[in-house]
Amino acid sequence: LSQLSSPLHMLGMIYRQLNSGMVDAEKLLKLLEEETEIVDAPGAKDLVVTDGVIEFRDVHFSYDGKVKALDGVSFRIDKGTSVALVGESGSGKSTILRLLFRFYEIGSGAILIDNQDIRDVTQVSLRKALGVVPQESVLWNDTVEYNIGYGRQGATKEEIIEAARAARLHDRIMSFPEQYNTVVGERGVRLSGGEKQRVALARTILKEPAILVLDEATSALDTENERFVQQALEKLANMASQAEGRSSLMIAHRLSTIVSCDQIIVMRNGKIIERGNHRDLLARDDGVFAGMWNQQISVDRDMAEEVVAQLVD
Ligand code: ADP
Ligand code: MG
Repeated sequence: LSQLSSPLHMLGMIYRQLNSGMVDAEKLLKLLEEETEIVDAPGAKDLVVTDGVIEFRDVHFSYDGKVKALDGVSFRIDKGTSVALVGESGSGKSTILRLLFRFYEIGSGAILIDNQDIRDVTQVSLRKALGVVPQESVLWNDTVEYNIGYGRQGATKEEIIEAARAARLHDRIMSFPEQYNTVVGERGVRLSGGEKQRVALARTILKEPAILVLDEATSALDTENERFVQQALEKLANMASQAEGRSSLMIAHRLSTIVSCDQIIVMRNGKIIERGNHRDLLARDDGVFAGMWNQQISVDRDMAEEVVAQLVD
């Protein structure tokens, strides 16, 4: 029984902390990461990000030594460009992100950022360069300003407002009685799931990471919020690719989110089976992406009709 009680106890603790809004989502991510036994190489230097060029070179990886999670993956994210990963569940998308963060050691090949092998740099500097918008964000029982400003110590009010605007949260904040001084969270104004996610977006925007990593997981949100979050993600990805040569890598479930991405990578069984921009991929008659796109379009049409039917009722 004692063997059982320990992880259960841990889960209960995490659950309670989540509920009380007192856990930093990124810390939680680390906490939940099974194996963090990876140590820095002796004499590891800090990663120096100049252009934010990311390169996967023939990367092979398996979690269990049997099933190939990644089977010879090569791609390059050029300076200031955006890349989206798509593909069915289990195809290897999240694995690519985990390996970029070096949560696991690859089997063979190499992952480079600005020509530095990520095995040769300190993990702290690596993770500092990668800005991730968490799927679940946690709010502090504090003001909106604090909750966004938490993304970067010493951020000015103007910078916080700018970030809130970019995350499409500013108008909502201005509708609160005390605007940016409004307390949110358990003991204050309760934000919807979509609004929380936009707080997380604003935080990340404020952090100005050299490389943006987005895992778009909006399944828990209702359609309305999902649309907002999608727009904000698009905006973030656009901002990322326009200004300051920031590169971005995102996992997209809703294909409409990635129309403007520079490169779309289609995964299947740990391999890249198609790549190109949206227009190129749609132009392929028997293309996998084209098929996914057409299917999703038809599903969305059904969904739209359903919503309209409910409204008419
Ligand atoms: P995706 O994000 O595209 O849904 P993943 O990268 O999570 O796919 O998974 C790729 C493959 O690796 C799948 O076969 C999956 O079952 C396996 N896998 C993912 N995470 C783990 C893990 N922690 N331990 C063992 N196998 C895993
Ligand atoms: Mg995944």
